[in-house]
Amino acid sequence: MAALKPALVFIGFMGAGKTRAAREAAAALGVPADDADALLEAKLGEPIAAHFDREGEAAFRATEEELCGKLLENADGGVIALGGGALQSERVRAALARHVVALVDVDLDTAWERARDSGRPLARDRAAFEALYRDRAPVYEQAADAIIIGGGRGALDALLHIPEGHLLIWTRAASGAYPVWIGPIDRAPLPEQGRRLLVTDETVAALHAARVPGSAGIIEIPPGEQHKTLETAERVWSALAAQGATRADHVVALGGGVVGDLAGFCAATYQRGIGIVHVPTTLVAQVDSAYGGKTGVDLPEGKNYVGAYHQPTAVLTDPAFLATLPPEEFAAGYAEVLKTALIAGGTLWDRVSAGDAIDDAMIAGCVRTKLRVVANDERDAGARQILNLGHTIGHAIETTTGYARYRHGEAVGLGLLAALRLSGQDALRDLALDLLVHAGLPTHLDGAEPQAVAAATARDKKRTGEAVPFVLVDAPGRVTPGHTVGASELLAAVRELCAP
Ligand code: NAD
Ligand code: ZN
Repeated sequence: MAALKPALVFIGFMGAGKTRAAREAAAALGVPADDADALLEAKLGEPIAAHFDREGEAAFRATEEELCGKLLENADGGVIALGGGALQSERVRAALARHVVALVDVDLDTAWERARDSGRPLARDRAAFEALYRDRAPVYEQAADAIIIGGGRGALDALLHIPEGHLLIWTRAASGAYPVWIGPIDRAPLPEQGRRLLVTDETVAALHAARVPGSAGIIEIPPGEQHKTLETAERVWSALAAQGATRADHVVALGGGVVGDLAGFCAATYQRGIGIVHVPTTLVAQVDSAYGGKTGVDLPEGKNYVGAYHQPTAVLTDPAFLATLPPEEFAAGYAEVLKTALIAGGTLWDRVSAGDAIDDAMIAGCVRTKLRVVANDERDAGARQILNLGHTIGHAIETTTGYARYRHGEAVGLGLLAALRLSGQDALRDLALDLLVHAGLPTHLDGAEPQAVAAATARDKKRTGEAVPFVLVDAPGRVTPGHTVGASELLAAVRELCAP
């Protein structure tokens, strides 16, 4: 007997949209979709909620396990949507192993909005719903070969070609959808799109340029934030022109956030826009800067003052690149991990706050958090601003110290401490301080006058009127933008960073 073919199985929490994702995928493949909940209701002869209420959860789970277990064990190709609770069964989890498992992402508030009025038995009480959401999250993550954020349209081809050892994160924002591949670069699917022009910095070129095959040309820039300028951009534009690059070709940015931001900006503007693929090689870039489509360069007047939104064609994230990263650069990335974990709450926060070492799952958690925020607000109209937690003061520190004294991540670490104080989160600030120290990051601000730093926040790009809006923290997982902070409070929070 020939081996059974893997099925494409959609999993996720209540209200994630698994049924719809399965239906869309099945339609594209020209096969029917099996919806486990619908099959269960047919078998029970009544709605799940009615059975659940009368017979209790344990009886329902036993029936569910039997049906889903069989469905998965016997599946020969095809598309399946599983109910949100099916993965509680070990039999179901084991049966999933041979299939392609796509986790349809949904945030807690959206899930609650969708599920509360649906009559689902486990969506009647918000606190219980929230606890269930938290409990199940790691189970889903563990099982997933792919995570779908913002809807799965267009993801099918990627879902059917996930290389061994890779996690696919498929994301959709206003201006387009793209895959993020987390895993070994050698097996990652580099997009084919005309000629491949590699932009990298001199340090990364020597270490890793050979890992990106098939480049028609390599454009090297000097490393460091001080080179994220229009002058360097002009050199890259000219080099692209000299190589005869056209809009049919694409740029691959191999490097940290400086290369990514600058190459992305050059790709956004060269001939009014050519494709960009990011291959991030620093922790900052792997957890943050390579995703979301913000590109740009600095002016002496302010950081990232000139730029454009330009979503990548794909992002290839190989954590193995980090092996050559100097410890100070790794530490700088840790500040962005801490920021992202504060925004995410949940499992990511649990792991980061416990002081766990950074691993692939943690990187994936950061990527997922950022992309979820961007999917809701690509152009920074509101919600995306939470990603700027710690950055208002962080950027002011960078500007005031001429981009030379602190790495971006180091400045963000200091900015996070100030933001937690301004949030009135004294205990969280203490914890963050410990984590930053442990990561080898500075927690003391030298070489800048507090007044100058406070004044520099007023030049922040996020400012739209008189006051600079601050991102503040209520609790891990509850971070909100648009807060007004008094001048004296702000100055005190910066002064505290400079105190001996
Ligand atoms: P970076 O790009 O300057 O890299 C840091 C240093 O590490 C450089 O000297 C580089 O040559 C070296 N390096 C890179 N990869 C290496 C590797 N694998 N092994 C050894 N050395 C390696 O800095 P960064 O911290 O990656 O990025 C900071 C920049 O990212 C800032 O300009 C910041 O504004 C930007 N950023 C952008 C976004 C965004 O959304 N676009 C988000 C966060 C940060
Ligand atoms: Zn940052």
